[in-house]
Amino acid sequence: MCGVVGYTGKNQAVKFLLDGLQTLEYRGYDSAGVEVVSPSGNLHGVKCAGRVHTLAERCQAANLVGTCGIGHTRWATHGAPTDRNAHPHTDCSGRIAIVHNGIIENYLELKRYLMERGHEFKSDTDSEVIAHLIEEAWNGAARGNLVEAVRVATERLEGSWALACICADVPGQLVVTRKGSPLVVASTTDGAYAASDVMPLASVTSHVIQLNDYDIALLTPDGAVKVYDHDDEEVHHPDTIDIDWDASAATLGGYADFMAKEISEQPEAIERLLKDRLGQHGIELDELKMGNKDLAQIDRIFVIACGTSYHVGLIAKIIIQTWAKIPVFCEYASEFNYEDEVLVTPHTLCVIITQSGETADTLTAARRMKGMGCKVFAITNVLGSSAARESDGTMDIQAGPEVCVASTKAYTAQMVAAVLLALRLAQANGSMDQQEVERHYRDLQQIPDLIREVLKRSWQDQQAAKLFRNAHSALFLGRGVNSTTAYEGALKLKEISYLHAEAYPAGEMKHGPIALLEPGFPVVAIVPADHVHDKTLSNIEECIARGAQVIAVATDGDESVAKLCQHVLWVPPVPDELLVPIVAVVHLQILARYVARARGCDVDKPRNLAKSVTVE
Ligand code: GLU
Repeated sequence: MCGVVGYTGKNQAVKFLLDGLQTLEYRGYDSAGVEVVSPSGNLHGVKCAGRVHTLAERCQAANLVGTCGIGHTRWATHGAPTDRNAHPHTDCSGRIAIVHNGIIENYLELKRYLMERGHEFKSDTDSEVIAHLIEEAWNGAARGNLVEAVRVATERLEGSWALACICADVPGQLVVTRKGSPLVVASTTDGAYAASDVMPLASVTSHVIQLNDYDIALLTPDGAVKVYDHDDEEVHHPDTIDIDWDASAATLGGYADFMAKEISEQPEAIERLLKDRLGQHGIELDELKMGNKDLAQIDRIFVIACGTSYHVGLIAKIIIQTWAKIPVFCEYASEFNYEDEVLVTPHTLCVIITQSGETADTLTAARRMKGMGCKVFAITNVLGSSAARESDGTMDIQAGPEVCVASTKAYTAQMVAAVLLALRLAQANGSMDQQEVERHYRDLQQIPDLIREVLKRSWQDQQAAKLFRNAHSALFLGRGVNSTTAYEGALKLKEISYLHAEAYPAGEMKHGPIALLEPGFPVVAIVPADHVHDKTLSNIEECIARGAQVIAVATDGDESVAKLCQHVLWVPPVPDELLVPIVAVVHLQILARYVARARGCDVDKPRNLAKSVTVE
């Protein structure tokens, strides 16, 4: 995962590098480092285990001066998160430095080869081989040509990389390249910039250049960016994207943490997504890039995703099957990629869901499905991401930058995107008439206000969070679409509070998890007014009979729940029971945040996690 930044230009590099790393910290935060070319023509760097703010303090003490530099915030894959394993890594001469995001799968073989040639290694990372390979090339035929040296070196790599490199012998030159890991660059009058995603660049430009796999870019202090493709041909019109949000979208704006901010942004995010979706002929989803005829032929759908996005997939499965009558298989990408038998038909659609658009497992799955002749549709929060670029159609959920590692607003926006897709499919294949489609769309339009109402009730979550004070574990239960709400609630709690939590379809409890229950054990039961309400209520009775503390998520006015449970997180009535998860989950997000804060956890940056999972 890791965040990579680079700058060359008129200004001191360290300021942009540190600000950029701060913005990219969601990608990894176990160690960080920067390196600049100093005015005396040497490399000068600082790196350390820990967060970017620790690095910033050290940089101040070290007085790093230089107008060309690179920076990195790490999520370790190879080698412990220590000072010496932090990036940048340098070659033997100390004149070439690199930062790397990704995994070099053949690093052991390369390291052996390089050591035989006398190279000395200073870290346990896979990445360091890159610095030494560039050194080899630089000392060989590529001397004086950093682009060529990087090309020769990367030709030997297997795996994935987003790479930035500087060399003290060509001060001012910054060379970047990628394969499988994201990287964008920008050209401005103040200089040229590189970063893992557009967020650090939002404060300097609104126009960003997208690199393709194997592209190599040379950035120079006059702000010029020259892009060369795989065949060493200059790319005169590289892909560009316009950033349509301002840099303040990624700042706290008065909130205690990004999670609180992003939870509160959900109504607006959903409103943005729903705007102008209903046209003369029903739901408009031009992003699908498929007409009615093609859509009507779809006879099977694979929804493939990881983590929170997988939970969206589970809901998509139920809603698409219910409304559009198309069989849906929902798969974990990491599992799907190693399944031998994938039963596709000539009209199978693959839907991938990935917030970052860079989730390595999900991209691999999408490529596999494409290879089998399937059309791939991506639901993502990052337009211009690999998922968006490699898919036949892409729905940008427009949730805006999500900085907290635990997803909230992207989750609910993705669910809304999935609902729109279900409606579009149902409309195309005639499972629903236009009136029905419009009715469902009007129901969806109520969701933002219903979430606003839940946000006003956060005091209920604050109260309920106290029940977790002495807990070692918790159980989340729900049925139907809300078994998924239970999965997501448990995942949020685990991710940010480090409290063990299990989620089960409520009816499965008696087949095992009930053994966990003892007096005081917290159980969160999602029991809205729906067709399985009474069944779930019986499961709540079973928990209470064993002394568990049940926290119910129920619909306003539900007397049966009020009588049974002391603690209820009330949800206003939702017009369609299939849409309840989009509203109910907001309580569970807020609850998890309160529990995590009471346990002293950093809710935005949970340990061991990173937001954009670009490694398999
Ligand atoms: N493999 C590199 C390391 O462990 C980079 C990790 C990453 O990009 O997540 O340092």
